[in-house]
Amino acid sequence: MVGRGIHRREVISLFVALTFSPWRNVREGEPLHQVNQETYGKRGMGNVDPICPMCGECEESMVHCFFECKEAVVLWRVSSLRLDPSPFQGTSLARRIVDMSSLFSDPKWWNTFWSVMWGIWLRRNAWLFSGKRWRLVDVADKAMSIVGEFEITKQPRQSGNNSATAAAHWKAPPFGVYKINVDVASFDDGFMGLGAVARDHEGDVMLSTCMRINGVDRVDVGEALAARHGLQIAYDAGLRSIILESDCLKLITALQKRSREASEFGFIVSDILYLASMCNSCQFSHVRKIGNSVAHYLAKLGTSPELVVWMEEVPQLVQDFVNFDLIALNF
Ligand SMILES: [Zn+2]
Repeated sequence: MVGRGIHRREVISLFVALTFSPWRNVREGEPLHQVNQETYGKRGMGNVDPICPMCGECEESMVHCFFECKEAVVLWRVSSLRLDPSPFQGTSLARRIVDMSSLFSDPKWWNTFWSVMWGIWLRRNAWLFSGKRWRLVDVADKAMSIVGEFEITKQPRQSGNNSATAAAHWKAPPFGVYKINVDVASFDDGFMGLGAVARDHEGDVMLSTCMRINGVDRVDVGEALAARHGLQIAYDAGLRSIILESDCLKLITALQKRSREASEFGFIVSDILYLASMCNSCQFSHVRKIGNSVAHYLAKLGTSPELVVWMEEVPQLVQDFVNFDLIALNF
């Protein structure tokens, strides 16, 4: 099955925060429920409550959701940033973030910042859509562990390791080059899902895909199959200048070293190298898991035996992760 997308993202600017799905049509200061009504209505969710689902006390705006809701404020304070967001009083989310950027310039600080933002957003959605109330301390721990993992990889003693240069967040490729993020997800029934997304220099989605495989029990083989699948689909779609990106360090190292070992994993690596040789250019890049979220969640959708390809879009369930990458792109 091949779906033809109609959605093409708007030009991204610093104020891309305002495109944060499902609020991408929201104007600054506008209550969220007016747009939520349309978006969620399509999801069959009926009327949307304008009140914040987390605290139940105020009308939910983006500023409220991330910086004013009492639970979000607690998360900022318990994070390693120890941030008190209350002095930042801009009228929009983007304004407040810009104000913060004038005070904080350390990239490490911003890595943590985005991880906390991410946690607040996912926690809110888990509650709203799944009725699951994640503990604040767990969200804070998760945000810290993601950044901690990133910091460890930056230690000089690991400078010879490819992970030393791995980005914590998704970075756009240069103009004219397409970045393909790939990932695998394991399911309880023994199947694996493969996911891949190709994006351009502005973070616009060119295509996304997922499929299910069985008979594979090694995650590294699954990671390699995801990379081969993603590269094959991108090649078939006519993309020829490519950065193939995975959070599997073993895979990226093997590809960069062009190591062709005689194993199931090695044979798939050879396949990928062959496909790469057919491109005008193909580089291999390692990224931390948070920067590979779009591919990961596509892989989790790979529950159907059919190969699925979406042109110029991702499924709605994954759009939030695309938007998150776009926001992080600007900082
Ligand atoms: Zn609230």
